[in-house]
Amino acid sequence: MKDESCIFCKIANGEIPSSTIYEDENFRVILDLGPASRGHALILPKEHFADVCALPDGWAAKVLPLGAKIGAAMKKALGCTGFNLVQNNGVSAGQTVFHFHMHVIPRYDGALSIVSWEPGKASPEELAELAKEIKDAL
Ligand code: 5GP
Ligand code: ZN
Repeated sequence: MKDESCIFCKIANGEIPSSTIYEDENFRVILDLGPASRGHALILPKEHFADVCALPDGWAAKVLPLGAKIGAAMKKALGCTGFNLVQNNGVSAGQTVFHFHMHVIPRYDGALSIVSWEPGKASPEELAELAKEIKDAL
């Protein structure tokens, strides 16, 4: 199903032009308009799913191998030495377009870290309590 008001539905299905680097019957992979690094790409399913929780298992199973294929091609073509696969879910997580997408972000030696955080601290008791809360919600 497509969502008529969704820009990524239109891009994924070719109604809006994009710099496409890969396409098959289920996915289009495009270059991001506001790249975090040179070659930053987005994997878009051709059907509308708001986020990873809405993505059916059959689609989800295809996303990671596709991310690996695109990342490997970036290493060959662009000279990056690594890549991040990033996928945001929800406003608090930084999601701005509510059509599932996975970022493939090439990483170059010597460049600033893009995906990083300051490690916090958690006691074994806190971790045990947190683990129980999440386990009980599964
Ligand atoms: P999010 O923050 O939702 O995880 O990522 C959305 C991404 O989509 C951003 O990196 C943004 O630059 C990119 N983006 C938003 N609109 C367009 C567009 O119309 N075309 C392309 N190629 N990228 C877009
Ligand atoms: Zn959509």
